[in-house]
Amino acid sequence: MMTPEQVNAAPKVLLHDHLDGGLRPETVLELAGEIGHALPRAEAPELGAWFVESADSGSLERYLETFDHTVAVMQTTEAIKRVASECVQDLAADGVVYAEVRYAPEQHLTKGLSLEQVVDAVREGFEHGMAVAERPIVARQLLTAMRHKARSMEIAELAVAYRDAGVVGFDIAGAEAGYPPTRHLDAFEYLQRENAHFTIHAGEAFGLPSIWQAIQWCGADRLGHGVRIIDDINHDGDKAELGRLAAYVRDRRIPLEMCPSSNLQTGAAASIAEHPIGLLAKLRFRVTVNTDNRLMSGTSMSRELTLLAEAFDYGLEDFRWFAINAMKSAFIPFDERLAIIDNVIKPWYASN
Ligand SMILES: [Zn+2]
Repeated sequence: MMTPEQVNAAPKVLLHDHLDGGLRPETVLELAGEIGHALPRAEAPELGAWFVESADSGSLERYLETFDHTVAVMQTTEAIKRVASECVQDLAADGVVYAEVRYAPEQHLTKGLSLEQVVDAVREGFEHGMAVAERPIVARQLLTAMRHKARSMEIAELAVAYRDAGVVGFDIAGAEAGYPPTRHLDAFEYLQRENAHFTIHAGEAFGLPSIWQAIQWCGADRLGHGVRIIDDINHDGDKAELGRLAAYVRDRRIPLEMCPSSNLQTGAAASIAEHPIGLLAKLRFRVTVNTDNRLMSGTSMSRELTLLAEAFDYGLEDFRWFAINAMKSAFIPFDERLAIIDNVIKPWYASN
């Protein structure tokens, strides 16, 4: 069993983390105070607990209400910069050496910012965070479009426009049922023509058709969650038989951005021990471990890895595998990925 210090020190790679789902409770309080936004709790610990309880409640309305508050306090350049900088500092303190953090620019326009101003604010915040973080970290942006809205093409163009300014990819998020990824086919086809990278939230609330569309119709490089791929695997103890789609995902090494604690809150898995990540890792899918919404799940990369270690008896060798899987799957150029694997991840695990 590893010590908490070891888990914290281990270099970790994070591909699926929402900027508006990872604020510090005290920052939410301060920013809300500045703009007169009413919050359900007045002290940071109680507010932090409220976020986790609401996300745990099983009620979609209560879950979505949590984001109403975080998004409400992220409507000015200064507020966004602060949140982005603290995000990077918190991840670095948790031992994350590379992170792709996503958010939907279209949700930060209510006080008059333009899409470009939002992306610039996040970039400045990330740069500040990287400069002052207690440990070295590389942080990049993914721009998300909301799947129930109609701005995906515009956001895809924004991601391409900022590809040399800290944005490394595109994503769609939001309610899966009723909003298949093929609704945004024009955006995905545009990104493919531009040789750009994207991931799609698929196979969390909704099953195999959503995963199949994301990969075979839309051309997703990675799957956000993808837990329901388990529905295409016939398994009994150590014997497993893969359906065509599951085999395709594994054989093509399509990265699965798995977020164990978040999946428990949305009901995509009943417990960590029953989470498909155990079987999928055993079957050598390209599995990565992620946080999704650190504030709403009260979690961190260290906590997610610790929960998995407890449930599946994972050790340092498994952590190394997750980190390298994730780094191989990052959207930055291959040589930059390799540099982090060879100069940061492998040396640490070799000496621990
Ligand atoms: Zn997510």
